[in-house]
Amino acid sequence: MYYVTKRLEIAGSHRLDLSYPSKCERLHGHNWIITIYCKSEQLNSDGMVVDFKHIKDKIHGYLDHGNFNELLPFNPTAENIARWVTEQIPQCYKTSVQESEGNIAIYEI
Ligand SMILES: [Zn+2]
Repeated sequence: MYYVTKRLEIAGSHRLDLSYPSKCERLHGHNWIITIYCKSEQLNSDGMVVDFKHIKDKIHGYLDHGNFNELLPFNPTAENIARWVTEQIPQCYKTSVQESEGNIAIYEI
C-alpha cells in the first residue's frame, strides 16, 4: 500500500449554527490546517497515488479566503469540513482539520 499526505493552510470565515449560545455563532475567521491522507494499492500511470497539486487545486482552490457558510452546503464545523474534504478526493481515507491550536477534528472512512 502506498500512502501520501497533503497539508494545506486555508484562511476563511464561518459562523456556526448551534443549539446552545456560543460566540461561534458570530462570523469569525480561522487559518485552518487541513491534512489529507490518501492511499492506493497501485500507483497511477504517472507513478503517484494522487498528484499533490490536484489536491491543492480542489480543496485550497475552492475554500481559501472564502466564507465557508456560502461555499459548503452544511453547518461548517471542523468535523463536517473533514468529512467533506475526504469525500472530494477518491484516494482519501482520512482528513484532519485543525481549527485553532489544540482543536482538531478527524474524519476517517
Ligand atoms: Zn470557528
